Amino acid sequence: MPAWGRSKWRVLLMDLESIRARAMACRRCGLRQRAKQVVFGEGNPHAVIMLVGEGPGAQEDELGRPFVGPAGQLLDRILAAAGLQREELYITNVVKCRPPGNRAPDADEVQTCRPILAAQIKIIRPRIIVCLGAVATRALIAPGASITRLRGQWITRAGIHFLPTFHPTALLRDAARKRPVWEDFKALRALYQDLQVQQMTLTFEREGHREGQTPHGECEVKLNESLSAGYGSHAGFR
Ligand code: SF4
Repeated sequence: MPAWGRSKWRVLLMDLESIRARAMACRRCGLRQRAKQVVFGEGNPHAVIMLVGEGPGAQEDELGRPFVGPAGQLLDRILAAAGLQREELYITNVVKCRPPGNRAPDADEVQTCRPILAAQIKIIRPRIIVCLGAVATRALIAPGASITRLRGQWITRAGIHFLPTFHPTALLRDAARKRPVWEDFKALRALYQDLQVQQMTLTFEREGHREGQTPHGECEVKLNESLSAGYGSHAGFR
């Protein structure tokens, strides 16, 4: 990683850590009273893809990490089947404290917690945000949005590609929803690859080809190697 890359990485981490510290001390809504801890989010601070769920469940509240319960384990299998590593993404929720009994957060709670999510998006600057479920779709797309109607449709705003899809918990309740979610994650992977190609091409033009440091053929080999990591199977998360 070039020197500027390392310092930029440190700045991102510092900014995220300051937001995390403020979130950990937050008592702005009633959810914090019954939650064991604030579940801020985790992952690559430089992620191209951000996944946003609804709110922490019991195991997330216990461990302080997002998507580690049964829904999270299913999400991991979906990601693996789509050839995506959890570590390269950033994963968080709309509200950072567990709603009692795993109920959906209400509109006031979403609104009160919104600045934390907005700060995470502003710092990480993902190119793609996957809205997992109705709460995330309404928080990030439109208050009256229907996940059933919008699922699988790309919506681009301010340079970010939003993809609403069903929450993994919905798949645990209704296996018929796995197929459309699989189609969504294949589309996600395809756009991610396109963005990687764009970035590698830009990097090649800026740093390699122009300065004569990287032979064109070598760059093409790297691109092909990157793209050769194909999909897994839908069967992987049945
Ligand atoms: S849910 Fe969000 S706004 Fe409410 S107390 Fe937790 S961190 Fe603060």
